[in-house]
Amino acid sequence: MKFFVETIGCQMNVNDSDKITDYLLSEGLEYADDVLQADLVILNTCSVRFSAEHKAYSFLGRLSEQKDKNPRLIAGVVGCMAQYAGKSIKNRFKFLDFVLGAKELDKFAGVVSKFIETGGVRKATRKSGVFEYVTIMRGCENFCSYCIVPYVRGPEQSVSVDEILAETEKCVKRGAKEIILLGQNVNSYNYKNIDFTGLLKEVSLINGLERIRFMTNHPKDFPDELIDEIAANDKICKYIHLPMQSASDYVLNRMNRKYTYGKYKLLVEKIRNKIPRINITSDIIIGFPGETDDDFKETLRAAEDLKFGGLFIFKYSPRPNTSAYKLKDDVSTAVKKERHSVLLERSNEISKELNGYYINSEEKVLVDAYANGICESRNSQNIKIFFNSAKDLTGKTVTVKITKVFANSMSGDMREN
Ligand code: SF4
Repeated sequence: MKFFVETIGCQMNVNDSDKITDYLLSEGLEYADDVLQADLVILNTCSVRFSAEHKAYSFLGRLSEQKDKNPRLIAGVVGCMAQYAGKSIKNRFKFLDFVLGAKELDKFAGVVSKFIETGGVRKATRKSGVFEYVTIMRGCENFCSYCIVPYVRGPEQSVSVDEILAETEKCVKRGAKEIILLGQNVNSYNYKNIDFTGLLKEVSLINGLERIRFMTNHPKDFPDELIDEIAANDKICKYIHLPMQSASDYVLNRMNRKYTYGKYKLLVEKIRNKIPRINITSDIIIGFPGETDDDFKETLRAAEDLKFGGLFIFKYSPRPNTSAYKLKDDVSTAVKKERHSVLLERSNEISKELNGYYINSEEKVLVDAYANGICESRNSQNIKIFFNSAKDLTGKTVTVKITKVFANSMSGDMREN
């Protein structure tokens, strides 16, 4: 029996899909290279943005045609959208065999085992990746006014330190060199009085683990000890994703982000003072209800002042059940588009300018992919670096002299190590 898992959304979903894949492989099922060859199809959904939901509905439309041709196909939907719109999904796509919300993933094995013929082969394991994700906490209770996560994933729950260490060791044994610790807000990790800084110290003791990254950090709580640990611990990558969302205090307040731009700026300055080679990237929401031209200009000015290594810019779309849903979505689509392109263009110029400082520098990079004679790698700052190589060096750490820079990547020549 072959299966296929389609994943939409964030790294949390990628990680959940990995767990589903591990379970199905352990039951003797095989990967299908293509959805059309699968006997079991699972769609892992996201509801953070309208576009993610649209993608899920299109996938289900295509899957319904596949089911018409192959009535023995088993199909299920899991994840955030299944959590909050499960009933309407079931009603609209009657062919689905199961719908399981993000909070019910622990029931996956029980539900799916009714449908699968186990192959008895229990040796298969997921292909190992150079970097793998380990979820350290689930849920969120920050209730940013635009966000559906607290409603679909529930309150914060930290995974035990032992479980995180065991999972990380398993990944390292499979061949992973870098671990990305995941949580909606890793800064609020707390398990039996071990906070996120304490957890980082424990994880970094694992033999064979070369690099640690994490996401996401809420700017409202970023303790000094965490900054000091990132600065002092060689295994921790010098990269922080710190969503700002807006630089207008009026908008930040309406977003319920619990910080002002002034506080955010001080935090960035403190981090940069203690970790000079840090790369900070950020998220921005464009066109939040009530965002005026002046509010937007403040965000643009902040992007120029703070010089982020990269920006992930999203156009606001109202999500049912969130508190911002009650606000009038009063920034027109055309204005959102215009602000998006102005900010993106400026952000790309800034990233390219920052990358310029790397010209002629020798960067230690970890190679994570190889194709057509080109290695794809990343330095500690999480910048993509390409270089030519006759050999596939995936999983190796090598030194590359940077010769060319672009907005989102760099390229160079490998040095003899
Ligand atoms: S911190 Fe805010 S944006 Fe992030 S998941 Fe929680 S509620 Fe959503």
